[in-house]
Amino acid sequence: MIPTSEAVAVTSDWLVPVDSSPTPNGFIVIEDGTIRFVGQKLPAGFQSLRLVRLPGFAILPGLINSHCHLEFSDLESPIPAGNSFPDWINRLLAFRRAKNNAPEQLASYRQAAIASGIRESYQAGVRWVVDMATEPWSATWIENEVAAIAALFPIGFAPKVPIVVQPCIELLDIVEHRFESTLALAMTHLGAPKSTTGLGEIGFAPHAPYTASKKVTQWCANLPLKEKRLVTMHLAESKEELEWLQHQSGPFADLLAPILDRGASLELHPYFDRQGQITEHVALLSQSWRAMIAHGNYLSQRDLMSLAEHASTMGVVHCPRTHRHFGHLHEAGQFPPTDRYPFAERMALGVRHFLGTDSRASNPDLNLWTEAKRVRAEQHELSSNQILKMMTTDAAEFLDLGNEYGSIRVGHPATLTAIKLDGVISCDGLVDDASTLYDALLEEGTVSAPLEWVMANLQSNDRTNL
Ligand SMILES: [Zn+2]
Repeated sequence: MIPTSEAVAVTSDWLVPVDSSPTPNGFIVIEDGTIRFVGQKLPAGFQSLRLVRLPGFAILPGLINSHCHLEFSDLESPIPAGNSFPDWINRLLAFRRAKNNAPEQLASYRQAAIASGIRESYQAGVRWVVDMATEPWSATWIENEVAAIAALFPIGFAPKVPIVVQPCIELLDIVEHRFESTLALAMTHLGAPKSTTGLGEIGFAPHAPYTASKKVTQWCANLPLKEKRLVTMHLAESKEELEWLQHQSGPFADLLAPILDRGASLELHPYFDRQGQITEHVALLSQSWRAMIAHGNYLSQRDLMSLAEHASTMGVVHCPRTHRHFGHLHEAGQFPPTDRYPFAERMALGVRHFLGTDSRASNPDLNLWTEAKRVRAEQHELSSNQILKMMTTDAAEFLDLGNEYGSIRVGHPATLTAIKLDGVISCDGLVDDASTLYDALLEEGTVSAPLEWVMANLQSNDRTNL
């Protein structure tokens, strides 16, 4: 381990700010967890600093995971997709119930799962994660785990806040009292001072149109814009969801009937007066400060046009391996349907996209870099630079983190991600053709990690000539 808190200079094969040209063999100076210098040549004033060389690495802005459920991070493997999406939800609920057998232990299970998910995300080079939070939940759990990660490094060497969790408190009202309790949880945190210990601004998540009515989404839409509350909603995720919303039939009817009041027939149930169609939710979400639609696999053309129209405040979070887990099929103007998410078509419309891992209930791990590599392997119409932006520059701009995240700039916290390259990538001629480097970054064999983690483990204290 590097033993002191002195400033350190680091050089790697490539500095890749993503929002500007890559620099071969560039230098970054980090002091007190903050970037003090970025450039091609180390100025004389910094030449006496300890120099850490990272051959075979590129340094990127910290990765941003725009959709996760950390509470399921204790799952060792994903829950099989089953026969339908509600079938999978049923299995997930059964997993949860198994933990509920000892209610007094539920909070400690949950805390351990969230801590494990934070640690796993961090180790994969994720620096900001948008998390869907349900009860039991505590800000302290997050702050404690982030502090434990920071304590792995000497004071000043790592960024003060190595990873931030931005919770979106899930709101549901399919059972009315549930709305009151989740809202109560949310309200207890609204007035809290902004944390500098790993907790991002609280956002909200009307869960999905089959569990959260228009009333809930409207409540989120009514939040004062100046509060800058992120709103996330699972929307148009499965075909079964569309069938339920349009016809109150299909596998969701079997799943939800026991939850709704058995006394009334489903068609007459008062819940349906409040239930909204996807288009109605999209319209409400367009009034919020920022809205991230999780998945959006089966959004209509009309809704996609609306998202494009509101691209400065609305976007879709695509979770590539979760998409694969459920085997979604898209018509996207072609027949037969394709199992590829219609990325290029939607981006051509102007729909903004971000990347997420979703949870370990539908994904084997929380490695966002693996998600990006999957997109690269499957989506040949997208440029690698577009893919990188979705989880760095563009996500940071959307979430209003631009002053601290999404680029490599002097004054930013050194929340940077190191990428172990898969072989040597020549510096020759690449300044004019950065796309070759971006493509190489997303090759199958590359690996991501937090920069300070890589530096600490190299045990380098080389003061030799620059
Ligand atoms: Zn989700």
